[in-house]
Amino acid sequence: MSIQARVIDGKALSAQVLDEVREDVHALAVQHIYPALAVVLIGQDPASEVYVRNKLLRAKDVGIRSLEHRLPQDISQQQVLQLLARLNADPSVNGILVQLPLPAHINEQAVIQAIAPIKDVDGFHRENVGGLVQGGDVLTPCTPSGCMRLLYETCGDLSGLHAVVIGRSNIVGKPMASLLLQANCTVSVVHSRSVDAPALCRMADIVVAAVGKPQMIDACWLKPGAVVIDVGINRIATASGHRLVGDVDYESASSVASAITPVPGGVGPMTIAYLLKNTLIASERQRAQRPISYPTVG
Ligand code: NAD
Repeated sequence: MSIQARVIDGKALSAQVLDEVREDVHALAVQHIYPALAVVLIGQDPASEVYVRNKLLRAKDVGIRSLEHRLPQDISQQQVLQLLARLNADPSVNGILVQLPLPAHINEQAVIQAIAPIKDVDGFHRENVGGLVQGGDVLTPCTPSGCMRLLYETCGDLSGLHAVVIGRSNIVGKPMASLLLQANCTVSVVHSRSVDAPALCRMADIVVAAVGKPQMIDACWLKPGAVVIDVGINRIATASGHRLVGDVDYESASSVASAITPVPGGVGPMTIAYLLKNTLIASERQRAQRPISYPTVG
């Protein structure tokens, strides 16, 4: 029997998240509090330019002040670290984002670890990564946070569901697995060395694909009725130019899944919305100087 999966509309849900952020920003403005996000872009990578432009546009749209720092490709690591030290010390800056990837001569980890954890709106600093693994209410990476919101809206309570995350990167796969575990899912992580990944995936109620391989996951990987979140963004050539596709073969998977995110219009817009939500969270924590809480779970 073939099912036509429900489309999980990330564009509509991200608009809702942005409305929530806008409302909170307006409430803060009444108290003369103006959250600000510093965005650091090094070099002229065309994809990074597009991502940064979109982030700045959305920030403006919800009323978050953005401070753009465009640095030349050949800037030294020392100069980047000096800028980050200034932004860390500046009380009018609440969130700091350094757009990745960085030029080859700059050490990515050195830069990420130089961002004050409380301003780390990407959630990549090891203090936030460790806090997430321990179930703390730290700043969490934007893409997995956006995926969780999509899942809550689609499935409601996630407790007891079996989730398979395909991919184990630090920015998507690993934090995604931690968030699903925190939501009481049973979590499996499938990666490039997994044996018979499709069979492991067919056991899942929820599949989150973050691989970076165009249309790799088709109907054969899915249990009937599974919910599919496609994080992948891959550019493929067509007769008339190019188009974006996910890691999931959308047409094939839609015949088996109960719900699925499209690419584009699924996870992508949620990532930006959660960046701005994180900026608000960071600003609130800086004002409250609230310690991180770690709930006890069995
Ligand atoms: P990555 O290259 O860092 O990690 C890919 C992961 O896939 C690795 O952990 C690897 O083990 C796994 N993998 C590779 N081949 C596999 C296979 N055959 N079977 C199972 N696992 C396999 O990539 P990433 O940064 O996690 O990004 C993944 C995808 O998500 C990319 O397409 C990227 O563009 C996209 N992305 C989208 C957003 C968004 O906002 N929508 C954000 C970040 C990344």
